[in-house]
Amino acid sequence: METDSILSSPSGHPASERDAKALQFIEEMTRNADSVQQNVLAQILTRNAHTEYLEGLDLGGATERETFKAKVPIVTYEDLQPLIQRIANGDRSPILSAEPVSEFLTSSGTSAGERKLMPTIKEELDRRQLLYSLLMPVMNLYVKGLNEGKGLYFLFIKSETKTPGGLLARPVLTSYYKSHHFKNRPYDPYNVYTSPNEAILCPDSFQSMYTQMLCGLYEREQVLRVGAVFASGLLRAIRFLHLNWKQLANDIRTGSLSPKITDQGISECMLRISRPDPCLADFIEEECGKENWNGIITRIWPNTKYLDVIVTGAMAQYIPTLDYYSGGLPKACTMYASSECYFGLNLNPMTNPSQVSYTIMPNMAYFEFLPHSTSGFAPDSPPKLVDLADVEIGKEYELVITTYAGLYRYQVGDVLRVTGFHNSTPQFQFIRRKNVLLSIDSDKTDEAELQAAVENASKLLSEFNTSVVEYTSYADTKSIPGHYVIYWELLAKDSANSPSDSVLAQCCLSMEESLNSVYRQCRVSDNSIGPLEIRVVKNGTFEELMDYAISRGASINQYKVPRCVSFTPIMELLDSRVVSTHFSPSLPRWTPEPRH
Ligand code: AMP
Repeated sequence: METDSILSSPSGHPASERDAKALQFIEEMTRNADSVQQNVLAQILTRNAHTEYLEGLDLGGATERETFKAKVPIVTYEDLQPLIQRIANGDRSPILSAEPVSEFLTSSGTSAGERKLMPTIKEELDRRQLLYSLLMPVMNLYVKGLNEGKGLYFLFIKSETKTPGGLLARPVLTSYYKSHHFKNRPYDPYNVYTSPNEAILCPDSFQSMYTQMLCGLYEREQVLRVGAVFASGLLRAIRFLHLNWKQLANDIRTGSLSPKITDQGISECMLRISRPDPCLADFIEEECGKENWNGIITRIWPNTKYLDVIVTGAMAQYIPTLDYYSGGLPKACTMYASSECYFGLNLNPMTNPSQVSYTIMPNMAYFEFLPHSTSGFAPDSPPKLVDLADVEIGKEYELVITTYAGLYRYQVGDVLRVTGFHNSTPQFQFIRRKNVLLSIDSDKTDEAELQAAVENASKLLSEFNTSVVEYTSYADTKSIPGHYVIYWELLAKDSANSPSDSVLAQCCLSMEESLNSVYRQCRVSDNSIGPLEIRVVKNGTFEELMDYAISRGASINQYKVPRCVSFTPIMELLDSRVVSTHFSPSLPRWTPEPRH
């Protein structure tokens, strides 16, 4: 077990007194993981002892682990939905939490086609804020001089809805950006954004993005880091620049603001920022007017030291595109969080994305781990959950949380692998969200398998200077046998030499070769799955898909490209943008595996 201290890490020293305190806090928490966890559980159970949920489980006021584990069931969102619905409908009695539910956080996960609603309580904001406050002190150990410039972060809110009972329902980041904690954050020279609050808080996503980009351009020399929550958000910003640089340059040339910007708060704050700068406008026109956008991020923001975006999990597929636009800048994945709970942070944020591990902070909630094996859950039933300090290196677990807001032994749906320990606290690699994406027969293909298949197949495109920038999938069962349809959006950097039909057909086969043996058995032996199909869609299609999701209430910050689609309007949109279709020309390899 590793017991190094980040304080004594050779990588650096705390940048300030405040940083030293934050790092000290991380050390204290991670050194005492088990006792902190024990206290967190006791606190949650004591406070919520008289909730309807816990009273119904007959804990008799017990707050220790044994009784908790014996009496409290492991649940999913679906189990809690009736209770959550009552809260949403206006029942203010203490159902899950003794503290009043302050609002609902709308998770990007869905249940029966609807977004999940996570009840939260006021003090959770403090806990989230606490985790945020640890990020820069860690980063400052690895990157020097971040106080000498600013961060260009593309951050967005989305409009809120109200539940029938009158509680707000909105994404966790909207809740955070609109909070006092964010709006009135104390000045921190290491964490200054180019985006004014007025731009971040503008509910119109075009105006918000336009202004954030404009401010980022005005301050291009000061920008030391460029980021968004997820990689997809940063790429959306680059695409936005692609579409709007002429207008942006015009505004900069004249020191004015596009008539498309009608938000009063933005207009007022831009009076302080806008200024005519013809040299800068010339520069932007020159750079953005070039056909080749390779390295555009570092060309426009030459002092960028790193990109601050999550590229782990499903976001990993954006790495090549980010590398293309940034000339391979380091990509820092700083934290791991969800609507239900913020989990932890990356104590070594400049590591390569494939090596990223998150350290779960033991003070955030009570964490348990459901052992996971590649063939599903370990056979012993009922499953025995492992405590935070007891997980084993190399093993995979599904995360189960008990929160202050009143989720008890709740399955988040994330599968994590233990990579090591920091003091007595484990560090986890995010493996995937537990789900099955595609199934035609007895096959079950998950996100990680599909991603690996796309990655393998897309290697065939590299000699054509082409990459897969976006993809999604669909289990097409209209024909018999059904087959997998994979939609690809391609980025061809050399349109004179684009891949032919036969190359793309080989990509289909390569994907099939990469899929699991059950899939290949269905294809080869059972003949219950037809040849895999790739549908190449027009450039910009996935952008439209995102716009569609946003128009239906998704948040830009939390939006993730669905890796599998089945909703008819989305299918129609995709199918109307298809430019070519390709099928696997032969059967993949399959041989019966010995049974163990
Ligand atoms: P949401 O509830 O919509 O905020 O989504 C939370 C989920 O996003 C988590 O449960 C993870 O599946 C995923 N997620 C969040 N942070 C990360 C990360 N750093 N790396 C990979 N996946 C993440």
